[in-house]
Amino acid sequence: MARYTGAVCRQCRREGQKLFLKGEKCYSEKCAIVKREYAPGQHGRGRKKESEYGIQLRAKQKAKRYYGVLESQFRKYFDMAERREGRTGENLLRVLESRLDNVVYRLGFASSRAEARQLVLHGHYTVNGKKVNIPSFLVKAGDVIAVSEKSRSSEKIKTVVETCGARPVPVWLDKNGDALTATITRLPNRDEIDLDVPEHLIVELYSK
Ligand code: SF4
Repeated sequence: MARYTGAVCRQCRREGQKLFLKGEKCYSEKCAIVKREYAPGQHGRGRKKESEYGIQLRAKQKAKRYYGVLESQFRKYFDMAERREGRTGENLLRVLESRLDNVVYRLGFASSRAEARQLVLHGHYTVNGKKVNIPSFLVKAGDVIAVSEKSRSSEKIKTVVETCGARPVPVWLDKNGDALTATITRLPNRDEIDLDVPEHLIVELYSK
């Protein structure tokens, strides 16, 4: 599948906020947006006023980049969110949060969503005791996520857990750090999702 392969930090600078795409570097002073808080490129410091469409587009791009999702899949999530009861924008963020790669990242079982995607693909995690190697797998309330028995001795996993294990975990995830397992107690409410994007702009964009 085609993915963005350019300079990762440019995406944050383009969106004007941290998207947490580079693991531990994002939490340090080395973060590019801390050092250069303006958009990349020749005209980065003097951007002109954006149109309504431009603002809506930026909101969608920001969410896509944050979760590392491509356009076609993002659109599918939007359609899914529309069919659910409640506010479409909130539903959309909830669907994105319930991706297995996101949950693995949120649990501190990977340093970034990109790394989580790789580790899931390599079969390091189980859902309800069964290996799941699909990063887009959607978890639901009651599911139990775990580092697989075989992967617990992997140097890679040990390093990740050691580095990211102390990160705060969202309230909707009940993590047992010693056992390297977690239960999805429920899916998150909007105020429990730290993505700084007015999701109604995405709804407006797709509703045109
Ligand atoms: Fe974004 Fe992380 Fe790079 Fe900072 S270090 S600009 S948060 S990807």
